[in-house]
Amino acid sequence: MSNNNQVEQQIQQFRELLEEYNYQYYVQDAPSVPDAEYDRIFKALQRLETEHPELLSTNSPTQKVGGAALSKFDQVTHQLPMLSLDNVFDSESLNDFMQRVMDKSALVETAFCIEPKLDGLAASIIYENGFLIQAATRGDGLTGENVTENVKTIANLPLRLRGENIPSLLEVRGEVFMLKAGFNKLNEGLIAAGEKPFVNPRNAAAGSLRQLDSKVAAARPLAFYCYSVGVFEGDLADSQYARIEQLKNWGLPVSSEVKRVVGDDACHDFYTNIAEKRPSLAYEIDGVVYKVDDIALQQKMGFVARAPRWAMAYKFPAEEAVTTVENVEFQV
Ligand code: NAD
Repeated sequence: MSNNNQVEQQIQQFRELLEEYNYQYYVQDAPSVPDAEYDRIFKALQRLETEHPELLSTNSPTQKVGGAALSKFDQVTHQLPMLSLDNVFDSESLNDFMQRVMDKSALVETAFCIEPKLDGLAASIIYENGFLIQAATRGDGLTGENVTENVKTIANLPLRLRGENIPSLLEVRGEVFMLKAGFNKLNEGLIAAGEKPFVNPRNAAAGSLRQLDSKVAAARPLAFYCYSVGVFEGDLADSQYARIEQLKNWGLPVSSEVKRVVGDDACHDFYTNIAEKRPSLAYEIDGVVYKVDDIALQQKMGFVARAPRWAMAYKFPAEEAVTTVENVEFQV
């Protein structure tokens, strides 16, 4: 068999594996492999596709976001696609990202809004004239599940915004997650009742939000933090950090860890500090998200297929043991 055929077969094998893992993770809320294993195969596939651009396909999992919305829910079409994030696992790769930003900005130093990478699931929540009118999951980025009634039961999320200059239309995006303490209690209760416990708080949050009966969701200890704005009508600040402050002033929950930082050293220090603090945080995080602070520069940098060019997730090393996937020979 020619070398090209082998590469093609390898790519096909990686794509099929990732599609299966996506289905288990996004649709069934029941992953069968640790995230680190998924990320390893994803990176291996990305590398093969970069080396062999003629084999790249828009159907590849590297070009898509999340999983299809469940048909048991009404579907919501996102007015602006909900994308994923590119990720890196070492400081050199983060430096490469920051350098790309500098090259584009033509400034000596660029400010970043740095945020904890919350380990839950993304949701879009729309406020009209200050009232919560719709909430949806990310789904495949274009179409999500209508989970309005469930989201309305989340204790720290206001049904009505307060304060001044609230945009008449405001779509906030953020993460639905489960506090560690609530997760442990929930699992203890499930085990006591003879039911299957959740694998981790992320899966518990996803399984709880995507319940048809909002009474079940209401009984689950879900929480929400905002981290961006989608569509809006009205005035908003021109920096990511200032927007987060605005959301906070309108009564929306945001993580108190978010910071605006200038300079490479300060960017790296944030990662080191929050990694140390991680065990004492009330919620799970799986890394740090670096976002270009200036919205005009974000717009100038734009997007690739599944992620913005102006943001990067720097993920923590895996805590779970990495298992070897049977029958997969890694060529990485
Ligand atoms: P991701 O989790 O790597 O990053 C994007 C997501 O981060 C966003 O959609 C949002 O939900 C979240 N996020 C948290 N904090 C944020 C912040 N401050 N700003 C912006 N976004 C923030 O990407 P993904 O597309 O949701 O999922 C892919 C990842 O999921 C994989 O890298 C893998 O780790 C995991 N996964 C695992 C399996 C498995 O079988 N174990 C399967 C599929 C996916």
